[in-house]
Amino acid sequence: MGQLVLPGERLGVIEEFIPDAGTYVRDGVIYSKVIGRVLIDLVRRRVEVHQLIGPSKVPSLGATVMAQVSNTQTDSAGARIFEIGEEEINGVFTGILHVSDVAMRYVDSMYDICKVGDVIRARVVSDKNRTYHLSTKDKNLGVVYAFCSNCGTLLEVKKQGMHCSKCGRIEKRKIASDYGKGLLPSRKETDES
Ligand SMILES: [Zn+2]
Repeated sequence: MGQLVLPGERLGVIEEFIPDAGTYVRDGVIYSKVIGRVLIDLVRRRVEVHQLIGPSKVPSLGATVMAQVSNTQTDSAGARIFEIGEEEINGVFTGILHVSDVAMRYVDSMYDICKVGDVIRARVVSDKNRTYHLSTKDKNLGVVYAFCSNCGTLLEVKKQGMHCSKCGRIEKRKIASDYGKGLLPSRKETDES
């Protein structure tokens, strides 16, 4: 089975492949419509995403989740939850991270915490009305992968802040203690819709 992809993840361009099940095309680029495994048929030049099926897990109170930041405002951020506990999930749930829940210290702006495209680890602190409020108030919670908002390169932790080795940009994040230690996901593409 192919690589795991999220909805909105870039799979290729229409010059390379014919888009098949589980995909959609925007501006000539093929994206995944579902969470699943990529199947590429090189003979027929088709790309499809085989949707992951199984028991649908729902984020529950207290659960640790992995999510990708999909939007940010000064006082909050939205993130798509793609993993609950250690389990990849079927459904796509949106979590909300409020600026008062990001750190023990006072935080002025969400833009110093995370940016669109970042992958975060967070805890579900409320699931009322199926709205999943997240918190990153712990050492092991926060951003685990951050990408340069200028060029998209994975940022490295340096004394001055989060450093882009490609364009030299310095950014701020609230990172988890194991930032950048796991496998690098190819999850830079985001779906703005
Ligand atoms: Zn950069």
